[in-house]
Amino acid sequence: MSADRTEQATAGTIPAARVPHPPVRGELRPVADGVHVWRPQPSVGWGLANCGLLTSRSSAAWIDTPYDRALADQFLALSRPLLAPGTDIDWLLVTHGNGDHLWGWEAVPDARVVYTAATATHIAHEPDPCDLHRLVHDGDPGTLVGWYLNRHFGRYRWAETRLPQPALTFSGEVEIAVGDIPVQLTQLPPAHTTGDLLAYLPRQRVCFSGDIVFAATDDEPGDHPVHWAGPLENVIDGCDRVLATGATVVVPGHGPVLGREGVLAHRDYLCHLRDHVHDLHGAGLTAQDAARRIAAENHHPALHLRERLSITVALQYRHLDASPPRPMLEQMHALAQLAWELEHPGVPTP
Ligand SMILES: [Zn+2]
Repeated sequence: MSADRTEQATAGTIPAARVPHPPVRGELRPVADGVHVWRPQPSVGWGLANCGLLTSRSSAAWIDTPYDRALADQFLALSRPLLAPGTDIDWLLVTHGNGDHLWGWEAVPDARVVYTAATATHIAHEPDPCDLHRLVHDGDPGTLVGWYLNRHFGRYRWAETRLPQPALTFSGEVEIAVGDIPVQLTQLPPAHTTGDLLAYLPRQRVCFSGDIVFAATDDEPGDHPVHWAGPLENVIDGCDRVLATGATVVVPGHGPVLGREGVLAHRDYLCHLRDHVHDLHGAGLTAQDAARRIAAENHHPALHLRERLSITVALQYRHLDASPPRPMLEQMHALAQLAWELEHPGVPTP
């Protein structure tokens, strides 16, 4: 931080300048026969999600897209040399409706888009890409929410991004054939979002879990999970469903590719978090104070974005209290407030 910004922060005012964002460079890594994973670098931060490429002799598919068109074009450029002659990306299988898994779809406009019917409903109620673009790029960076959005979402562009028309939506289970690669798609109960699915490749024993799993290992850091639908019990059950597929390789929505033990470790993290939240709820703390407490304890220093606990903890409180969802702007304000407190200890929140 520059001297000017430090002075501003010390005075409890928000540094007005928009921050520069280092470029994102993705890498495409093989994980099984005909299966590659696109991993963005840096790998920690909002919106930096993994994507899958499936290639067979007669067809190809993406599982999820990067967050915006420029990143999706990067992924496409790396995908093309791996496609069999005369084939194209015919399918886009989408694990859930958050933009960081879908909004790059215009790079493959002819692909048949598949997601759950619940995801279709979710997308219809979310801010669309152009709305979020205006909020991030035209909003006032001198407000707490504007400061946070600019720092964490300012690298993405959706000024002209439209939403796709799905070729297929489904409930329950469906199997897709990407050439000779079978892909089993299974809808989950509300967990990360209301419309999550698992994409399992039985021949390769690879499961794409979407954001049911946010991974981190000793070698590769990750971020604290953020969950929007819940309760956490359903996310934990989702980890069990991932393991029940029989997968030996699990591609999380964010973070490094895992084996089965990595999923079990993440499941443990979620169980501890749930139990801790229940204790603090029982002790009478507000959701934001409970998030503050857990963030300050920092039991998982390899996980970045501790402020996301404000959203996940409040979600669990909502289920415990049977209260209605909070407006998105209210959630963003609590998130930005905790981020400010973590970054500027002892400085009043502007
Ligand atoms: Zn995500």
